[in-house]
Order: sequence, then structure tokens, then C-alpha cells
Amino acid sequence: MSDNVVTRFAPSPTGFLHIGGARTALFNWLYAKHTGGKMLLRIEDTDRERSTDAATAAILDGLSWLGLTWDGEPVSQFERAPRHRAVAEELVRLGKAYYCYATPAELEAMRESARAKGLPPRYDGRWRDRDPSEAPVGAKGAIRIKAPADGETVVNDRVQGEVRFPNKDLDDFIILRSDGNPTYMHAVVVDDHDMGITHIIRGDDHLTNAARQMVIYRAMGWDVPSMSHIPLIHGADGAKLSKRHGALGVEAYRAMGYLPEALLNYLARLGWSHGDDEVMSLADMIAWFDIGDVNKGAARFDFAKLEALNGVHMRRMNDAELLEIFINTLPYLEGGPAIAARLDDTGKAQLLAALPGLKERAKTLVELVDGAAFLFAERPLPIDEKAAALLGGEAREILRGAHAALKAIPGDWTAAAAEAAIREFALAGGHKLGAVAQPLRAALTGKSTSPGVFDVLAVLGREESLARVADQID
Ligand code: GLU
Repeated sequence: MSDNVVTRFAPSPTGFLHIGGARTALFNWLYAKHTGGKMLLRIEDTDRERSTDAATAAILDGLSWLGLTWDGEPVSQFERAPRHRAVAEELVRLGKAYYCYATPAELEAMRESARAKGLPPRYDGRWRDRDPSEAPVGAKGAIRIKAPADGETVVNDRVQGEVRFPNKDLDDFIILRSDGNPTYMHAVVVDDHDMGITHIIRGDDHLTNAARQMVIYRAMGWDVPSMSHIPLIHGADGAKLSKRHGALGVEAYRAMGYLPEALLNYLARLGWSHGDDEVMSLADMIAWFDIGDVNKGAARFDFAKLEALNGVHMRRMNDAELLEIFINTLPYLEGGPAIAARLDDTGKAQLLAALPGLKERAKTLVELVDGAAFLFAERPLPIDEKAAALLGGEAREILRGAHAALKAIPGDWTAAAAEAAIREFALAGGHKLGAVAQPLRAALTGKSTSPGVFDVLAVLGREESLARVADQID
């Protein structure tokens, strides 16, 4: 365990917190928690045209829903532009960077000639060694860093291993534009240094940036943080993650009824493992996670696995806790607001009592809404097609008898008392238990599946149960 680990999550607020970003945040968070360190949050809003406040709010909301807490206030990269400028100017004073006055036409010509030779576009260093006195009068130059011309830059990555970049491929890139605004490449380095970041954990689409960023660290004489570039998430078919595969904002996962803990468990296991453990609590993940154990191969996102894992987490969770999450999530779930509107204290108690039976049959909170709907349905109940089939034929006659048997229950209305009454009625009339239980369930819930019918009777209570059954007789 290392001392004083400081990680950071650095999203660009150009859209929702998507699932890949959530996983990056999770790995930073887990590593910080595992080492007793901190995770900071930096909003990379330097690109003023693409950054929006709504996106920042959505990212904070997504992180909060997942429980991925950050330390201190979020840092705005844009607000730090004066500091980025000062460091760029400092590098010029140190002789590590220089003003470049190449015109757009000259730069285009350089690109053209590189293209003609089949080379990547590259700045040719024409202002690198010129005397500042040669600067065109009144022109505002851009600041370029002096990149090393030969040898190689080696990124010692904890996930990717030792990655070598020939320096001849790194040109003197711009760190401060002629309008005085920092480039993204430069802002990230200055911010990571000033924020005291010890460990950079981010998507492997930033790996080549790491080599360029090292040039800036070295020029300033700053320590290079530990680097971990984690593989991107792919679809179940191996292709780049698209919407169809699950490349959605995390709020879409909330609306699909996944528990934060289950989603985090699933995301953690995408590219990282701990023996054969598949089902992990947050505490397990924190105890077991190490960034060095992340695989470098692309991880595949699979909805079916996420759903199955969610079901396991729901069944494992204690009922009071699950109920609280369920109630908090209702506004986001299809059919949820209707339940939320009727959820008084009696309703909550009924829901809690029904939960053990309901969660056996649900893999998501959306399925739980569906399963719990009967509790809050108004009489006469809407009867679905399968339930209607159970109420045809001689079922009505049987229900009549069952109604009478239930009505005659002396004393307390409990699942056991209801079961005894129904069994006795079935036996006396020569009916199989199922022939009584099935239409009873249909009448009580409007559906063909539900928790055990005696539990349903107990949860609904005497009056409501008898009324629902009576509705199907007359
Ligand atoms: N803002 C970058 C992104 O959202 C992350 C940059 C970094 O982590 O260094 O991809």
C-alpha cells in the first residue's frame, strides 16, 4: 500500500456520464479507497463550445447515484487557464518552449508535404532555434514545447506495461495557442501536477497523449505520476461499444432498474478479476482491487450478465435496504411514479412484507415495479391475458367456494390461516390445490405469476382480498 495516493476522474462535460466513463471513475475510486487515498474530480471544460453546464450536472448526478464520491470541490479546468498560460510562459523563459509564428498557410503546406510522403502531419520546427527578435511585428505567436528529437519516450504503464514511443514521431506540439488559450494536452499536465495527482487512471485512448504529456513534465522538472491506461469497453460481439451494446449514460441504467452496487460490481469485473469471485459487495471490491491486476485486453459488455448479477444482488440485499433504494428509484422507473404516488405508510409496510416473494421473481427494479403493481392496483383490477385464461371455465365456481372459505376464517388473517382454509376447501371439493390457487392468484393480482398466493392474501389483508375475489365472481 502506497502513502497518500491521489487519483482523479477528469470527464469532459460534453454529454452524459457514459458507461465507459463510469468504469474509469470506478477504478480511480476503488484504487483511492483501497489505498486509503483520495479521488479528486476535475471537469475538463476547456473546450467552451462543446462543454455545457447541463452535462456537468448530469455527470455529477451519475457519479452520486453510483456512490462514487470525490474529495473536495470539483475543479474547473477552464478557470485555471491563467495558470496554464503562466506555466507555458515559464517554459519559454526556461528555454524549453518557444514562440512560433508559422502562418496557417505555412502549416497547411507542412501538412501537405507530409501527406505527399505518406507521413503523419508534423511541425518542422522552423521557429525552434530562431531568435525572438525575428518575430514578425505585432504577431501573436503560439507557444510550442521543444520535444526531444531522438531516442524514445517510455511510458511505464501499470496496465499496458512498458510502452515505447520513438521521439522522432513527437513533434514540437502547441501548448498555448496564439489566442492565449492552453491546449488540452498542456492543461491536463499542469492540473495533474498542481492537484498533486500521484496516479493517473484513464482510458487507453489517452496512451499516446501520455508520451507527449511526459515531455511537459520533464521540461518543468516535475515528477511523472504513475500511469494506468485501461482498455476500452467493447460490445458483446467484440465491436466498439455502440448504443445498442450499452454505450448509454448511467441514468439509462438507473431507468432500466439496475442497482448501483450491481452495476459497479459488473463494471469492476470488466477487465479486472479476483480469482473466481463474480458477486462482490462494495467492501469486497475495495478490499481486493488493485490497478496492476487490470487486464490489457478489451473488455466486453454483456447485458445478460449484468441482468443476472443484478438479480443476485437484489436477492442478497436486506429487504429494508432494497426497499429504500426501490423507493428512491421509483421516479425514474417505468410505472414507478404511479406507485410512488400511492405509497403511504400502509403501502410501504405492504411492500416490505411482499418483498421477499417479489424479489425472488425479479432481476431488476423495473421487474419489481411490475411484480408489486398488484399491491397498488385499484379495483376492479385490470386482468392480463394469461390471468383471464385462468379465470375461465369452472374457475369461477371454484372461486365462489374459495371466497366463502376465506370469508369464514376465524380470528387473525394470516398466510397460514388462509392456507389452511384453502387446503380444506380444495380437499372437500376434490380440487387439486393448483386449481384453486391459480384463479385465486389471477383474481388477487390480475396476473398469472406473483409471490406465493397465501403471502399475497396476507399482504393484501382480509377486506381487500375478499373484495378482489368477489369482483371476479359477480
Ligand atoms: N477529459 C478526458 C476524457 O474525458 C480525460 C483526460 C484524462 O483523463 O487525462 O476523455
